[in-house]
This record gives sequence, structure tokens and C-alpha cells, in this order.
Amino acid sequence: PAVADVEALQHADVAELLPRPTAESDKYRRGVVGVVAGSARYPGAAVLAVAGALRGGAGAVRYVGPAADAVLARFPETLVHAGPPGKAGRVQAWVIGPGLGDDADPLDEVLAADVPVLVDADGLRFLTPERVRARTAGTLLTPHAGEAAALLGRGRDDVEAARLHSVRELAGRYAATVLLKGSTTLVADAAGPVRVNPTGTGWLATAGSGDVLSGVTGALLAAGLPARDAGSVGAYLHGLAARRAAGPTGAPIRASEVAGHLAAAWRDVQD
Ligand code: AMP
Ligand code: MG
Repeated sequence: PAVADVEALQHADVAELLPRPTAESDKYRRGVVGVVAGSARYPGAAVLAVAGALRGGAGAVRYVGPAADAVLARFPETLVHAGPPGKAGRVQAWVIGPGLGDDADPLDEVLAADVPVLVDADGLRFLTPERVRARTAGTLLTPHAGEAAALLGRGRDDVEAARLHSVRELAGRYAATVLLKGSTTLVADAAGPVRVNPTGTGWLATAGSGDVLSGVTGALLAAGLPARDAGSVGAYLHGLAARRAAGPTGAPIRASEVAGHLAAAWRDVQD
């Protein structure tokens, strides 16, 4: 592809795009994120996605799923809901998928909502192009290479060998914005050049870090950023937070610590 088909996300672009509260802000205007994540087997994924959403600037986070006790133990500010997503009340963007396991397909109500939806991890297993194409609001898919390969019906190595091509192909096939995770994270949609995130670090290759990214990005969607910007700004902040957590010389980090350093990443961007 031509050089213009790819663009690196710049610090100044991110600073411009970061949603900031004003005198008129209230929690609803800042954005309510609904998180459908976690299972008896993977309650931690729900905790990490909620952590990301809270530190991603959400006005409020609603959690729907079986890990409410674990979520509340870590984040008492979360609003938890026992019923289906459709009954959870006002939500400006949904995040669905981290740690769902093999439970029954939970996508219908969320995809039917007329608000942006981020689908990650186990949520991607139930996705078909038809289900996404029927949507009225934006859809952002956040696969790693293995999940992207499953969506495309080919091998992981094929995706790794042709990441740029694969992310574009997925965006076209699903008529969605696609964020392909990896050592360089790519964001593609039908509208413009593929965005390349420059902030990643290998220290992010640790369990749960993708769940944090889902939450942060969901908060940016709820604040009103288009999927393309939410995905690229989310990846940018997530990478910076990991670098902050790992320190200047680098050291192993936990995904929780990435979430814990998101505020430092915001400050870095605004400096
Ligand atoms: P997941 O595979 O869903 O747990 O997400 C892993 C997260 O870590 C994504 O944000 C990836 O982009 C990031 N990541 C994984 N490996 C690397 C790497 N070698 N360099 C930079 N980022 C990485
Ligand atoms: Mg993941």
C-alpha cells in the first residue's frame, strides 16, 4: 500500500481528542459505559475491564454479569446489574466480551442498542458480519491476531504475516472499525488510512492487559469519540500507561498496574 494508507497517531492529535470535563459536564454527559464481561471462571476480566473504563474517563460504569461481587470489592463506584443488558438503564457505549468464557451467546441485546459497541475476546466468537452490518451505531472490534484469524477463517500465522492487509479486510467484511492488537496496534475502518499506535511495549504482553484496553476504549466511545478515534486514543493511552508502570528501564507489570497508571498517561498527553 502507498505511504498515505497508513498514519502514525501523534501526541498532539491525542491531546486534541482527549475528552475533558467542562462546567456543563455531568456524569451522563461524560459518558456511561456498560460492561458485559466476566464469568465464574474468569471474574478478573470483568474487574480489569471496569478498571479501564473508570480510568478511561467514564462518568459511570454499569457492570452486567456474574462477577459483580469481585467488581464491587475492587471498585465500589461501579453500578451493578443482575438482569439482562437491555434492563441496565442508560448506557452510551457497551463493552462486551472479556472473560465471558463459553457461556450462551450474550450479544443480541447489546448489538440491538443504538449506541456504539466494542466487541472483544469471547464476544468475538459469536460475531458474524450480518450481525454487525445490521447495526445502526458504530461497532469496534478489538481482536488479537488469533481472534482476527478466527474471524477471517484462517491461521494466526497468516494474519501475523499480513497484519495491515488483515485489519483492512476485517473492517471491510464486518463494516466495522477494527483494532488489531499486537506489538504495533493497528486501527482500520472504511474511512481513512490505517492508524498505527506508536506507544506499545512488550511489557503489555501479559494476561488481562487487553481487558483493560477494552474498558478504556469503551469510556472514550461513551464520551462521544468516533470508533476510529476511540480505538486509536485508547491504544495510545494504554501503551503510555504500561510504559509508566514499567518505569524508565522497564520491569514486569501486571494488567491492574496498567489500569492504575492510566491517570499518569492522561497527564503525559496533556503536558
Ligand atoms: P490481549 O491479547 O487481549 O490480552 O491484549 C494484549 C495487549 O497487549 C494488547 O493491547 C496488545 O497490543 C498488547 N501487546 C501484546 N504483545 C505486545 C508486544 N509484544 N508489544 C506491544 N504490545 C503488546
Ligand atoms: Mg484479550
